[in-house]
Amino acid sequence: MAIEHIVIVGGGTAGWMAAAALSRLKAARELRITLVESEAIGTVGVGEATIPPFVGFNQALQIDEREMMAACQATFKLGIQFTNWGRRGDSYLHPFGNYGYEIDGVAFHHVWHRLKAGGDKRPIQVFNLETMAAHFGKFARQEDYQRGQDLPPMNYAYHIDAGRYAQFLRRYAETRGVIRQEGRVDDVALDGESGDVAAITLQSGERIDGDLFIDCSGFRGLLIEQALETGYEDWTHWLPCDRAVALPCNRDDGSGPPPFTRATAHAAGWQWQVPLQHRNGNGHVYCSRYMSDDEAHDILVNNLAGKPTADPNFLRFTTGRRKKFWNRNVVAVGLSGGFMEPLESTSIHLINTAITKLIAILSFDGITDTQRDAFNRLTGKEFERIRDFLILHYNATERDDSEFWNYCRTMDVPDTLTEKVELFRSNGQIFREDDELFTETSWAAVMMGQGVMPGSRNAMADSVGPDVMGGEVDGIEQSIRWLVERLPAHGDYLARYCPAP
Ligand code: FAD
Repeated sequence: MAIEHIVIVGGGTAGWMAAAALSRLKAARELRITLVESEAIGTVGVGEATIPPFVGFNQALQIDEREMMAACQATFKLGIQFTNWGRRGDSYLHPFGNYGYEIDGVAFHHVWHRLKAGGDKRPIQVFNLETMAAHFGKFARQEDYQRGQDLPPMNYAYHIDAGRYAQFLRRYAETRGVIRQEGRVDDVALDGESGDVAAITLQSGERIDGDLFIDCSGFRGLLIEQALETGYEDWTHWLPCDRAVALPCNRDDGSGPPPFTRATAHAAGWQWQVPLQHRNGNGHVYCSRYMSDDEAHDILVNNLAGKPTADPNFLRFTTGRRKKFWNRNVVAVGLSGGFMEPLESTSIHLINTAITKLIAILSFDGITDTQRDAFNRLTGKEFERIRDFLILHYNATERDDSEFWNYCRTMDVPDTLTEKVELFRSNGQIFREDDELFTETSWAAVMMGQGVMPGSRNAMADSVGPDVMGGEVDGIEQSIRWLVERLPAHGDYLARYCPAP
């Protein structure tokens, strides 16, 4: 059946990102796109930290960065600072961008290990521009410091007000012909023969027929689960946190927004701090087996950088993934497809890649099993690689100060993760598999940041000549220092580049 009408159910970040991206297809063909959302139900109301591919998503939509950032009171983000994970009191930054660069075909962290073995005391962080800029609270876009010189780019993402971003994309999508329909979906009709979703019916009685349905209805999975009973793979045994409490606050100490997210571990979970221009987003992700809602709320309130600006928002979730992301003529995008806690800000990224894959795969002549299978296989791999990376944060720890950490430290982990950690422990090698999101630097940053160190040196590192070891490596450090000294403070840059109206 030809695809002439796409119906998106849900108007949170997932729904409006899908609507905005799909609206661009309307320029080339007769295509109807309807988005149904219910103001009475509302959105999940969290989800403010992103990662660098999100910058590309906005660029692909030809969105003006300044305009979007001003509208969403956004800040720049250079990485995530993890505190208390490997041991209480420890802190490291997982930066966007790489440590140094490959030298004579050898990954930089191998070169650094050789230097270290030879007595060099410099931490690997001084060879990463994003870490150093974050440390000093500095930021500028490459266009503003390059000026004909050969300086490295700064890899960045944004912290955004999620509600404002959805509104921003709504304006974008409606301008390009997407029809927004307010109303609550009360019934989903399946086609008697094919089992596909044929139509949804709103509380008002209005029926909306469609050819392809995108389920962006959030955790409830209105179409993918409630109607199609697709099933869910539960990953709670590996990622045991199942609750969160969110509470925004002002920044009344007068400090500027730091260009990074904070993830601070507590006794049975961790706390996020996401700095926007006008406030901080905060939340505490925790495990209900080891901590009550009241305790979690108290810990959060006692660790806020300012006064709360809203009531606490308590959320429940089950970490895992839908058994199929694309089932019949329904594609689950966003929370309806699965959920992993926001430790590495990956949910909005998974919305981005789901939409990008869908648009790449879609043929308007109809849906085939091959399309569905490819989408499900590729999305499943993406989820699993991210899952392993998140588990690493909990498992690579020496913490033994609570039942929660004892569980995490000693739990069985997926074989894929065991192999990755063992290879690194052996000689520092990291293989990036299945085109996975996280880079060698990401894996190395978290492993080394949490005390996993290679036992011996990678043989290739010894092949790098002494002149290169000295000159080139020193050059990397010096150019980063030179640049960071000259960068403006992040807050000053924001005030010039994209002040909130
Ligand atoms: P929702 O926001 O829940 O939207 C669902 C939509 O469906 C709403 O418009 C609702 O009205 C509509 N709807 C539902 N039922 C019906 C119905 N019957 N009829 C009509 N409409 C209906 N992601 C990140 O990338 N970074 C983060 O920092 C981050 N932090 C998070 C923190 C927490 C605690 C949680 C739980 C999630 C976080 N996420 C984060 C994930 C992020 O919030 C979501 O991926 C993102 O908001 C997308 O949500 P959604 O659009 O799928 O669902």
